[in-house]
Amino acid sequence: MLRNVELFVLDMDGTIHIDGEIFPWTLPFLNRIRDLGKKYVFLTNNSSKGPEDYEEDLKKMGIQDPKVYTSGEATAFYIKEKFGNIRVFILGTRKLVRVFERSGLIFDEDNPEVLVLGYDTEITYEKIRKFAIFLRKGLPYISTHPDLNCPSKEGLIPDAGSFIALFKASTGREPEKIVGKPNPQMLYSLSEKYSTPVEKIAVIGDRLYTDMKLAKNSGAASVLVLSGETSREDLERSDLVPDVVVNNLGDLIGVI
Ligand SMILES: [Mg+2]
Repeated sequence: MLRNVELFVLDMDGTIHIDGEIFPWTLPFLNRIRDLGKKYVFLTNNSSKGPEDYEEDLKKMGIQDPKVYTSGEATAFYIKEKFGNIRVFILGTRKLVRVFERSGLIFDEDNPEVLVLGYDTEITYEKIRKFAIFLRKGLPYISTHPDLNCPSKEGLIPDAGSFIALFKASTGREPEKIVGKPNPQMLYSLSEKYSTPVEKIAVIGDRLYTDMKLAKNSGAASVLVLSGETSREDLERSDLVPDVVVNNLGDLIGVI
């Protein structure tokens, strides 16, 4: 089934590298995709940084011309499609604001038409206050991704999902749309950006409930690698059955 795939959507940590250390089979696998005239793109839910930050990291690992797609870009794409070039208030980093502005959306802290909640590592009480007041006015509310925590060297730290919980506690409101994986919107945006139908896309990742669920929710092929978080035992216990399961990306070289 993978022979018909034209676009490989790859998770990063646990799939192509582990904590920034690239796996020995990653470059041969990516070279094989390029030799076949197919494409790959790397996917991240983290909306606190821009794609160029990740692309720099990947270049340092030796990956040629890497393209990274973030939940922030997918959210900007979704909002533009749904509302046009509208005024948005973003609870997010300056980098996320730049992602939105680059796509043609207008950042407006005083008179927004749509609210966006991202992973704001620069959050202040003033931003929280404003966001809550706009929420109470009933403006459309969209979030970049649902992750409750983000891994860090010293342990898990609060991510966008925890901010969503804060505003739910305060205002009773929850986002009308959450774009990042496992929500299929992230893949629909990518499918349009790369003019590739979802039936010709495979999602490759190490997590069942984000990467594999994203594939299942959107209709793309799902490929689980056991080089990261998921063990064989986890897989046996899971209701989610990926289309393909391999130890690592190296095992895919002969089957794409
Ligand atoms: Mg991963």
